[in-house]
Amino acid sequence: MNRILVTGAGGQIGSWLVPRLRELYGEANVLATDVRHLGPDFTEAGPFQVLDATQPKAVGQAVMRHDADTVYHLAAILSAIGEKDPRLAWHVNMASLEAVLEVARDQGCAVFTPSSIGVFGPDTPKNPTPQDTVMRPTTMYGITKVAGELLCDYYHTRFGVDTRGVRFPGLISYGAPPGGGTTDWAVEIFYEAVARGSYTCFLEADAQLDMMYMPDAVDALVGIMEADASKLVHRNAFNVAGLQITPEGLAAEIAKHRPEFTIDYDV
Ligand code: NAD
Repeated sequence: MNRILVTGAGGQIGSWLVPRLRELYGEANVLATDVRHLGPDFTEAGPFQVLDATQPKAVGQAVMRHDADTVYHLAAILSAIGEKDPRLAWHVNMASLEAVLEVARDQGCAVFTPSSIGVFGPDTPKNPTPQDTVMRPTTMYGITKVAGELLCDYYHTRFGVDTRGVRFPGLISYGAPPGGGTTDWAVEIFYEAVARGSYTCFLEADAQLDMMYMPDAVDALVGIMEADASKLVHRNAFNVAGLQITPEGLAAEIAKHRPEFTIDYDV
C-alpha cells in the first residue's frame, strides 16, 4: 500500500488521518479530497483535489490520475445532520460508497470505510455489545452504516475487493470540529467549558456511550489496513472502543480543572 486517496479528508477524522498517512507513506503519495475547498494544512502539505465522492466518474478519474491502490472513504453525512435531512444522508452515504466500491472493483484498489456504533439499535445487547449481534438501528445514519457494512462485505465476497472497516464509537479530538454526530457533545463540552464555563447537554446525565481518543482511532484505522488479510475474520466491521463516559462523569472531571464549570440538562 503506497498510493492513497482519502475522500472527505477535511472532516474530524480526515484532519488527523491525512497527516498520519503522509508521515507513514510520504506526502506526495496521499491525495486528500473533499467536496469543499480546504485550508493550507491539506493543500500545502501534499496533493489536494476538490472531489464529490458521490460522482463515480470523477472518483474513477481521481483514482486513475493519482494511481491510487487504496481509498480511505471518509465522506459521509453524520447522525444528527442525517436526522434533519434523512434523504441527503441516504444519498451521500450510499451513492459515495457505491461509487468508491465500483471504482475499487474496476481499478483493483483496497477500501477502508468507517462504520459506527450507530449500526446498533434499542434491541442490541449492551456492555459489552458483541461483535455479531442485533443490528436494527432507528436512525437513517445507522441504516446507511448497516447497509454499508453489508455492501462492503458483498464487494469482498462477490468481486474480491479488499474492503475493511471498524465500527467507531464517538471520537474525541481537537482541531477540526465534529461534523454533526450524536456523540459531538463529548467534544463540545470542552469548548463550552472554556468559552462559557457551562454546558447544556441534550442527553440524560447518566447516558453512557463508548468513546475513543482520535490518535487511538487513527491507530485502529491504520492497523486494520496493514493487517494480514488472511487473519481478518470480520472485514466490515470490527467493534473498537477506548472508554465509556457519561455527561455527569465528564463534567465532574472538567470541574476538577475548572471548579466554576456547571452542566445542565435539556433532554
Ligand atoms: P465529518 O462530518 O467531520 O467529515 C466528513 C467530510 O466529508 C467533510 O469534510 C465533508 O465536507 C465531506 N463530504 C460530505 N459530503 C461529501 C461528498 N459528497 N463528497 C466528498 N466529501 C464530502 O465526519 P468524520 O467525523 O470525519 O467521519 C468520517 C467517517 O467516519 C464517516 O463515515 C463517519 O460516519 C465515520 N464515523 C465518525 C465518527 C466520529 O465520531 N467522528 C464515529 C463513527 C464513524
